Amino acid sequence: MDDIRKRLVHNFTAALFRLRQLGGNVAVEELPGAVRDNSRLADEVDEIQANENREISFATREKLVDRVKRLSAALDRLNHGEYGVCVECSERISPARLHAVPEVQTCVRCQDRIEQFERRL
Ligand SMILES: [Zn+2]
Repeated sequence: MDDIRKRLVHNFTAALFRLRQLGGNVAVEELPGAVRDNSRLADEVDEIQANENREISFATREKLVDRVKRLSAALDRLNHGEYGVCVECSERISPARLHAVPEVQTCVRCQDRIEQFERRL
């Protein structure tokens, strides 16, 4: 589980950094307490800044804000021992899916259902 935490924190800080590059900012109040209280994140952002200066993301600010929120929510769930469980049906999310998208909140079945629902709107 420590690997997952590292990946989540890394992705989180990277997304947050890109967001800042785009001139955006996420209000700290928008983030779950687990992340807000983690003062080490600031250092990590500096570190990533050095590594990722070359990269300008094409992602829109909105997408990044979304990602930051999903990642911080995933960290929060990890801290509460709820990580890897589908928020819709409470089934375990497959490890392969979590590996591909660590911040994912739903199993494949529920994701399909949600996407079909959104397509109808
Ligand atoms: Zn599900």
